[in-house]
Amino acid sequence: MACVYKPLHPCLDRLKEAHWFIHQMEEQYHFAERFRYSLNAYIRSLKEVRTMFQQGMQNVEGFKEWYADHKKALDEDPLLSKLGKKRDYLVHHGMLDAKSNAGCGIARGAIVKLAMSWDVHPNEDSDEAMKSFARASIHAGDQFGFFNTDDTTRPCVEREWVMTDISDDNILDVAWAAWMTNARVISEACTWQGGEELDLTLPCRHDSKRIKLKTYDRDEMISYATMSMEGV
Ligand SMILES: [Zn+2]
Repeated sequence: MACVYKPLHPCLDRLKEAHWFIHQMEEQYHFAERFRYSLNAYIRSLKEVRTMFQQGMQNVEGFKEWYADHKKALDEDPLLSKLGKKRDYLVHHGMLDAKSNAGCGIARGAIVKLAMSWDVHPNEDSDEAMKSFARASIHAGDQFGFFNTDDTTRPCVEREWVMTDISDDNILDVAWAAWMTNARVISEACTWQGGEELDLTLPCRHDSKRIKLKTYDRDEMISYATMSMEGV
Protein backbone atom coordinates (compact mmCIF):
# COMPACT_ATOMS: atom_id res chain seq x y z
CA MET A 1 0.00 0.00 0.00
CA ALA A 2 1.27 3.47 -0.86
CA CYS A 3 2.38 5.70 2.00
CA VAL A 4 -0.49 7.98 2.95
CA TYR A 5 1.93 10.88 3.46
CA LYS A 6 3.49 10.59 0.02
CA PRO A 7 1.66 13.56 -1.59
CA LEU A 8 2.54 15.56 1.51
CA HIS A 9 6.27 14.79 1.76
CA PRO A 10 7.50 17.88 -0.13
CA CYS A 11 5.34 20.35 1.79
CA LEU A 12 6.09 18.70 5.14
CA ASP A 13 9.78 19.14 4.45
CA ARG A 14 9.32 22.78 3.50
CA LEU A 15 7.16 23.34 6.58
CA LYS A 16 10.07 22.10 8.72
CA GLU A 17 12.41 24.38 6.85
CA ALA A 18 10.20 27.43 7.51
CA HIS A 19 10.06 26.42 11.18
CA TRP A 20 13.84 26.29 11.35
CA PHE A 21 14.10 29.75 9.80
CA ILE A 22 11.87 31.21 12.53
CA HIS A 23 14.34 29.85 15.05
CA GLN A 24 17.07 31.61 13.09
CA MET A 25 15.06 34.84 13.36
CA GLU A 26 14.77 34.29 17.11
CA GLU A 27 18.49 33.72 17.39
CA GLN A 28 19.54 36.64 15.19
CA TYR A 29 16.88 39.04 16.44
CA HIS A 30 19.29 41.74 17.63
CA PHE A 31 21.59 41.54 14.59
CA ALA A 32 19.94 43.59 11.88
CA GLU A 33 21.45 42.03 8.79
CA ARG A 34 21.30 38.44 9.96
CA PHE A 35 17.74 38.95 11.12
CA ARG A 36 16.77 40.33 7.74
CA TYR A 37 18.39 37.42 5.87
CA SER A 38 16.62 34.93 8.12
CA LEU A 39 13.28 36.68 7.65
CA ASN A 40 13.71 36.63 3.89
CA ALA A 41 14.58 32.94 3.94
CA TYR A 42 11.56 32.25 6.13
CA ILE A 43 9.20 34.15 3.83
CA ARG A 44 10.57 32.35 0.80
CA SER A 45 10.10 28.91 2.29
CA LEU A 46 6.73 29.80 3.79
CA LYS A 47 5.43 30.83 0.38
CA GLU A 48 6.51 27.48 -1.04
CA VAL A 49 4.68 25.45 1.60
CA ARG A 50 1.26 26.24 0.18
CA THR A 51 2.37 25.78 -3.42
CA MET A 52 3.88 22.41 -2.63
CA PHE A 53 0.86 21.38 -0.63
CA GLN A 54 -1.49 22.15 -3.50
CA GLN A 55 0.78 20.57 -6.09
CA GLY A 56 1.25 17.43 -4.05
CA MET A 57 -2.42 16.98 -3.29
CA GLN A 58 -4.01 18.06 -6.58
CA ASN A 59 -4.41 14.52 -7.92
CA VAL A 60 -5.74 13.07 -4.71
CA GLU A 61 -9.36 12.14 -5.15
CA GLY A 62 -11.75 14.58 -3.50
CA PHE A 63 -9.04 17.12 -2.69
CA LYS A 64 -10.72 19.98 -4.49
CA GLU A 65 -13.83 19.69 -2.36
CA TRP A 66 -11.87 19.08 0.81
CA TYR A 67 -9.64 22.07 0.16
CA ALA A 68 -12.57 24.38 -0.54
CA ASP A 69 -13.54 23.94 3.10
CA HIS A 70 -10.02 24.27 4.45
CA LYS A 71 -8.36 27.05 2.51
CA LYS A 72 -10.27 29.83 4.27
CA ALA A 73 -7.78 29.85 7.16
CA LEU A 74 -4.89 30.27 4.72
CA ASP A 75 -6.64 33.11 2.92
CA GLU A 76 -7.39 34.93 6.15
CA ASP A 77 -3.96 34.84 7.79
CA PRO A 78 -2.48 38.37 7.43
CA LEU A 79 0.97 37.26 6.31
CA LEU A 80 -0.12 34.38 4.08
CA SER A 81 -2.76 36.42 2.32
CA LYS A 82 -0.26 39.18 1.68
CA LEU A 83 2.24 36.73 0.24
CA GLY A 84 -0.47 35.14 -1.85
CA LYS A 85 -1.37 38.45 -3.45
CA LYS A 86 2.14 39.60 -4.23
CA ARG A 87 4.14 37.32 -6.47
CA ASP A 88 7.22 39.43 -6.13
CA TYR A 89 6.81 40.33 -2.48
CA LEU A 90 10.47 39.88 -1.59
CA VAL A 91 12.07 41.44 -4.60
CA HIS A 92 10.25 44.71 -4.66
CA HIS A 93 8.89 45.22 -1.18
CA GLY A 94 9.31 42.65 1.54
CA MET A 95 12.13 43.77 3.70
CA LEU A 96 11.75 47.43 2.95
CA ASP A 97 8.58 47.28 5.00
CA ALA A 98 10.25 45.75 8.04
CA LYS A 99 10.58 48.45 10.66
CA SER A 100 12.30 48.38 13.94
CA ASN A 101 11.11 50.37 16.95
CA ALA A 102 13.11 50.42 20.11
CA GLY A 103 13.38 51.69 23.62
CA CYS A 104 16.59 52.00 25.60
CA GLY A 105 16.76 52.06 29.36
CA ILE A 106 17.09 49.68 32.26
CA ALA A 107 15.55 46.32 33.08
CA ARG A 108 15.31 44.25 36.22
CA GLY A 109 15.33 40.63 35.13
CA ALA A 110 12.95 40.45 32.18
CA ILE A 111 11.03 43.57 33.20
CA VAL A 112 11.82 46.98 31.72
CA LYS A 113 11.84 49.45 34.61
CA LEU A 114 12.45 52.68 32.76
CA ALA A 115 13.09 53.34 29.09
CA MET A 116 12.89 56.04 26.52
CA SER A 117 12.11 55.54 22.86
CA TRP A 118 15.29 55.39 20.86
CA ASP A 119 15.78 55.60 17.14
CA VAL A 120 17.25 52.31 15.94
CA HIS A 121 17.72 52.04 12.21
CA PRO A 122 16.61 48.74 10.61
CA ASN A 123 20.21 48.22 9.49
CA GLU A 124 21.64 48.79 12.94
CA ASP A 125 22.47 46.06 15.47
CA SER A 126 21.04 46.47 18.96
CA ASP A 127 24.59 46.58 20.37
CA GLU A 128 25.27 49.71 18.33
CA ALA A 129 22.03 51.27 19.55
CA MET A 130 22.99 50.58 23.16
CA LYS A 131 26.41 52.14 22.63
CA SER A 132 25.03 55.33 21.13
CA PHE A 133 22.42 55.46 23.90
CA ALA A 134 25.12 55.09 26.59
CA ARG A 135 27.28 57.72 24.94
CA ALA A 136 24.43 60.23 24.58
CA SER A 137 23.02 59.64 28.08
CA ILE A 138 26.32 59.88 29.90
CA HIS A 139 27.43 62.82 27.82
CA ALA A 140 24.21 64.65 28.74
CA GLY A 141 24.74 64.02 32.45
CA ASP A 142 22.53 60.91 32.70
CA GLN A 143 19.66 62.79 34.30
CA PHE A 144 17.44 59.69 34.47
CA GLY A 145 20.18 57.72 36.18
CA PHE A 146 20.28 54.93 33.60
CA PHE A 147 23.97 54.47 34.25
CA ASN A 148 23.98 55.01 38.01
CA THR A 149 25.47 52.16 39.94
CA ASP A 150 22.68 49.77 40.71
CA ASP A 151 23.25 46.07 41.10
CA THR A 152 19.64 45.08 40.53
CA THR A 153 19.09 46.51 37.06
CA ARG A 154 20.92 46.35 33.75
CA PRO A 155 20.94 48.70 30.78
CA CYS A 156 18.72 47.29 28.06
CA VAL A 157 17.50 47.59 24.52
CA GLU A 158 13.93 46.56 23.91
CA ARG A 159 13.50 46.13 20.21
CA GLU A 160 10.40 45.41 18.19
CA TRP A 161 10.50 44.27 14.58
CA VAL A 162 7.23 44.87 12.75
CA MET A 163 5.96 44.69 9.17
CA THR A 164 3.55 47.58 9.41
CA ASP A 165 1.67 46.76 6.22
CA ILE A 166 0.84 43.32 7.62
CA SER A 167 0.38 43.68 11.35
CA ASP A 168 1.48 45.76 14.33
CA ASP A 169 2.51 42.61 16.16
CA ASN A 170 6.11 41.50 16.51
CA ILE A 171 7.31 39.81 13.31
CA LEU A 172 8.19 36.69 15.30
CA ASP A 173 4.59 36.28 16.45
CA VAL A 174 3.25 36.97 12.96
CA ALA A 175 5.69 34.39 11.59
CA TRP A 176 4.69 31.70 14.07
CA ALA A 177 0.99 32.38 13.50
CA ALA A 178 1.34 32.03 9.72
CA TRP A 179 3.44 28.88 10.16
CA MET A 180 0.80 27.43 12.48
CA THR A 181 -2.03 28.19 10.05
CA ASN A 182 -0.20 26.26 7.35
CA ALA A 183 0.69 23.45 9.72
CA ARG A 184 -2.92 23.00 10.90
CA VAL A 185 -4.26 22.64 7.36
CA ILE A 186 -1.52 20.17 6.49
CA SER A 187 -2.12 18.27 9.70
CA GLU A 188 -5.79 17.96 8.83
CA ALA A 189 -4.82 16.73 5.39
CA CYS A 190 -2.66 14.07 7.06
CA THR A 191 -5.57 12.74 9.09
CA TRP A 192 -7.90 13.04 6.12
CA GLN A 193 -5.51 10.75 4.24
CA GLY A 194 -5.59 8.24 7.09
CA GLY A 195 -2.34 9.31 8.73
CA GLU A 196 -1.70 10.89 12.10
CA GLU A 197 -1.99 14.53 13.01
CA LEU A 198 1.14 16.63 13.36
CA ASP A 199 2.47 17.55 16.78
CA LEU A 200 1.79 21.28 16.92
CA THR A 201 2.57 21.93 20.57
CA LEU A 202 5.77 23.85 19.72
CA PRO A 203 7.67 23.44 22.99
CA CYS A 204 10.71 24.88 21.17
CA ARG A 205 9.09 28.26 20.51
CA HIS A 206 10.63 31.15 22.44
CA ASP A 207 8.62 33.99 23.92
CA SER A 208 9.03 37.06 21.70
CA LYS A 209 8.72 39.29 24.78
CA ARG A 210 11.89 37.76 26.18
CA ILE A 211 13.70 37.81 22.87
CA LYS A 212 13.05 41.46 22.17
CA LEU A 213 14.86 42.46 25.36
CA LYS A 214 18.64 42.46 25.38
CA THR A 215 20.53 43.55 28.48
CA TYR A 216 24.09 44.78 28.88
CA ASP A 217 26.81 45.07 31.46
CA ARG A 218 26.59 48.54 32.99
CA ASP A 219 30.30 48.97 33.76
CA GLU A 220 31.22 47.96 30.25
CA MET A 221 28.86 50.54 28.77
CA ILE A 222 30.11 53.27 31.13
CA SER A 223 33.73 52.64 30.24
CA TYR A 224 32.85 52.47 26.53
CA ALA A 225 31.00 55.82 26.73
CA THR A 226 33.76 57.46 28.77
CA MET A 227 36.49 56.26 26.45
CA SER A 228 34.67 57.32 23.30
CA MET A 229 34.09 60.78 24.79
CA GLU A 230 37.77 61.12 25.58
CA GLY A 231 38.46 60.16 21.98
CA VAL A 232 40.66 57.20 22.99
ZN1 LIG B 1 11.40 24.38 16.83
